[in-house]
Amino acid sequence: MTPKILIVDDRIENLISLEKVLQDFDVEFVRALSGNEALKQTLHHQFALAIIDVQMPDMDGYETVQLMRSVERTKYLPVIFVSAIYSDEFYIVKGIESGAVDFISKPIKPEILQGKVKVFLDLYRQSEQLKQLLEEKEKMNRELKAAKEKAEYATYTKSMFLANMSHEIRTPLNGIIGMTEILQNSNLTEEQKKNLEIIKISGDNLLSIINDILDFSKIEAGQIEIEKIPFDLNKQIDTVYNLLKFKAEDKHIYLKTEIDENVPRYLVSDSLRINQILINLTNNAIKFTEKGGVTIRVKLSEDKGEDKIIKFEVEDTGIGIPEEKQGAVFQEFTQADISTTRKYGGTGLGLAISKKLAGMLGGTIGLESEAGKGSLFWFTISAAETSPDSVASGESNEDNDNLVEMRNLKVLLAEDNAINQKVGTMVLKTLGIDSDVATNGRQAVKLQMRNHYDVILMDVHMPEMDGLEATKVIKKHCSEQNGIKPPAIVAVTANAFKEDRDRCLATGMDYYLSKPFKTNDLKKLFATILKA
Ligand code: ADP
Repeated sequence: MTPKILIVDDRIENLISLEKVLQDFDVEFVRALSGNEALKQTLHHQFALAIIDVQMPDMDGYETVQLMRSVERTKYLPVIFVSAIYSDEFYIVKGIESGAVDFISKPIKPEILQGKVKVFLDLYRQSEQLKQLLEEKEKMNRELKAAKEKAEYATYTKSMFLANMSHEIRTPLNGIIGMTEILQNSNLTEEQKKNLEIIKISGDNLLSIINDILDFSKIEAGQIEIEKIPFDLNKQIDTVYNLLKFKAEDKHIYLKTEIDENVPRYLVSDSLRINQILINLTNNAIKFTEKGGVTIRVKLSEDKGEDKIIKFEVEDTGIGIPEEKQGAVFQEFTQADISTTRKYGGTGLGLAISKKLAGMLGGTIGLESEAGKGSLFWFTISAAETSPDSVASGESNEDNDNLVEMRNLKVLLAEDNAINQKVGTMVLKTLGIDSDVATNGRQAVKLQMRNHYDVILMDVHMPEMDGLEATKVIKKHCSEQNGIKPPAIVAVTANAFKEDRDRCLATGMDYYLSKPFKTNDLKKLFATILKA
């Protein structure tokens, strides 16, 4: 845009001669014959510079500029005063006080005016450029922010989609696995048993893949919290060992554990998440090892007083990972060798999840490996040491004594999915319990009013009235009607996360059972309820 110069003089011939002197500049002139007119023009135009005669009737040049300075638009407008009485110090000072100004005497010497105007125009151009740069930067910032929000939203929706999909897939899978277990306990030929075993293994594999996806997407969406609870480290390592030793035995390889003596036994951290990583690494180690075996080691890596850095190692004598592939294995959906997928299966998510979890536990993860020789995967956690008494005492073996008592429990199963109803009632039946079924929350409330159950297994997602709502109604009703013992309400859902659990408990549900539940889970739960 061409810069505009405001020229102000009460005599038109002076304005014309000014324009003549400055005719070589690429500018547009706007004329004003009085101070008032000049002020009016500043409302309509954005000026680069004003050249103002000092001596004018009515409002003189100084007054005009002073008024300009009081308005935001023209506060910093550069001004060149033109005056015949230039020797008058007072006027000079008064003029300079009001902002960026210069002074030129009459009669005007063209080269001097041209020189000054050039300086001001250069300054104006520079400041315009700066302004433009700033605007561009601001625009870019806005765009960046919008793009960032969009990307975050995309990650979030992707994660939510995955989480929802996994949830939807788990519900029917629950039916498949549950029914398979029930069938396995019936009278079968050897052939049928073998076939069922394959269904069971496939179902379990599918479930663990879905759990991985669910886990990963929840971590990505920032929906996983780390719990800090005292635990017995030796016991955790035993749990992992007992869980996986059969897998090693099946492959005729060894699995052993070594815990260094200086490792504190009682720690505060999230033992479930530590187990999850350990199981992941050990499962991999067993999967990729055909000869020799796997060693789980625990070491005290650093003693920072209050905080202990504990290092877990899982070493195998398996196929190893070539150096150039080692960096990639912690990335999601990445496998060192595509051909191993065909042979061993897997989603390539296990290590990515483990890495994120290790980070959340205050540690890191890494590996050393040589192709053909084996791998050593390790991870660290930061945990505080605690006393043995702070660790909750283990489960006793009195569960079985409760079996008889268990049979007398009045149980209601509230569940809308027909297959899950069937699986649920059959699992209950294996415990000797005859249960009633409600297909939605409303029905559950109605049946409870009539039959007063000891336990309600309450699905959370149901049509008409969901499990949370039904729980509120039932609890309210029981507290209003003194004398009715409220049922133990167990939230049953496929969302196996702490946040979901907290939500259920906050609504007044008493226990939590994640789908698909097994006979053993139920047995333990009923034992706890009976003890309460
Ligand atoms: P996956 O479900 O495919 O096992 P992971 O993230 O657990 O996913 O592992 C990624 C890849 O890292 C595996 O597919 C395999 O190629 C490699 N890998 C992991 N652990 C081992 C190991 N102990 N020995 C050899 N390769 C391994």
